[in-house]
Amino acid sequence: MSAADLSAAAGAVPEERRAIVETVRDFVEREVMPVAPELERNDTYPLELIEQMAELGLFGITIGEEWGGAGLDLGTYAEVTVELVRGWIAMSAVLNTHLMTSFLVEAFGTDEQRQRYLPRLARGEIRAAFVMSEPHAGTDVQRIRTVARPAGDGYEINGQKMWVTNGLYSGLVAVLLKTDPTTDPPYKGMSVFLIEKEGGQTEMPGMTIGPPIQKLGYKGIETVEIAFDDYRIPASQLLGGPEGLGMGFRYCMAGIEHGRITQTARAVGLMTAALEASLKYAGERETFGKKIGEHQAIQTKLALMATNLRASRLLMQSAALAKERNGRADVEAGMAKMFSTEAAVDATRMAMQVHGGYGYTKEFVVERLYRDAIALTAGEGSNEIQQQIIARQLMRDPSVGVGR
Ligand SMILES: Cc1cc2nc3c(=O)[nH]c(=O)nc-3n(C[C@H](O)[C@H](O)[C@H](O)COP(=O)(O)OP(=O)(O)OC[C@H]3O[C@@H](n4cnc5c(N)ncnc54)[C@H](O)[C@@H]3O)c2cc1C
Repeated sequence: MSAADLSAAAGAVPEERRAIVETVRDFVEREVMPVAPELERNDTYPLELIEQMAELGLFGITIGEEWGGAGLDLGTYAEVTVELVRGWIAMSAVLNTHLMTSFLVEAFGTDEQRQRYLPRLARGEIRAAFVMSEPHAGTDVQRIRTVARPAGDGYEINGQKMWVTNGLYSGLVAVLLKTDPTTDPPYKGMSVFLIEKEGGQTEMPGMTIGPPIQKLGYKGIETVEIAFDDYRIPASQLLGGPEGLGMGFRYCMAGIEHGRITQTARAVGLMTAALEASLKYAGERETFGKKIGEHQAIQTKLALMATNLRASRLLMQSAALAKERNGRADVEAGMAKMFSTEAAVDATRMAMQVHGGYGYTKEFVVERLYRDAIALTAGEGSNEIQQQIIARQLMRDPSVGVGR
């Protein structure tokens, strides 16, 4: 059974949409794979590839057709992400926060905000970032301190945001801020603002974008800090208008399930690349008079990698379907994200082991896959937090555990 058959069996990628996934696979094999190793090594922003992604319409893939997007379902988007990440995770890094912000604008924005941003986002004319995290608050989002206080006919923002992927080159940043620091629980006093800026600019009145954070992997796409010092923003930039005041945390939690499905798709993409590289190497390298793929210890690794890859893909499709059907999918997305990202770390490590000493060199892709896999376990809600989300729901309703 091919990957496409497997997805079709899970019910999420209908026949007519497979062409889109195949187009992306073709783009990745032709354009991304040949240049990714060098771009990654030099941590180079892949502008040309991003422009090609825009031409393919990928920046509008899940944005509604009425706004110029393709309006595709999450299952198809997830399969497209798998293909992109099979080539290089940066191709998905530039897309994920863009589509999360696009989702927030489409789902919760005012008509004016939708009209103003969605067509340009869908064309990839502007790209978007999304940030909740701060230096002292990642998992514990309710501890954020960056504040937006009413000032004149708008707001004034003070504080610091951390880990803003696409924070420099984006033209729009969705930022979760405190609008009422006195509420108990704190999440009721949070709102999302849409910050427009010039992509590539580091200094704007009241806003400074720091240099890219040096990372182990997940390279090519910048992750930065943004500092606000009396940054003035019009009230029209409050997501959802006056009704959006105090709704930011809830909006972000709905948005982040998209991110968790993306993390799962990235894990599947990395595992696919790891398995392919390992199968190739196991069929070529010889020790003790036979191919290493004929040694049982290597076969065990290949079998585990392939089985966890399929299981992750099915969890990915099940989470995408649940999100499409029910609006929220915290258990499904949490299970998929946790299982697949741990499996990706295991699979990429096994792939390095299959490659022996060569796996530890830049000559083979597996060392990059391993570095990129580790990035997935913390982002979009760490795996420890996914366990808590799943367990909390299980205690309320044991049937979620058996998936009935
Ligand atoms: C490459 C990269 C890109 C990122 N991009 C973005 C972005 O674009 N936008 C954005 O908003 N954020 C982004 N992040 C931030 C990311 O979401 C946070 O790193 C993540 O939420 C974890 O927060 P933290 O790093 O502060 O860890 P902490 O919250 O300090 O957690 C540290 C450890 O403690 C564990 N832990 C915390 N609380 C509990 C608990 N109650 N029970 C058990 N264990 C617990 C965590 O699981 C983790 O293992 C990015 C991070 C990385 C690495």
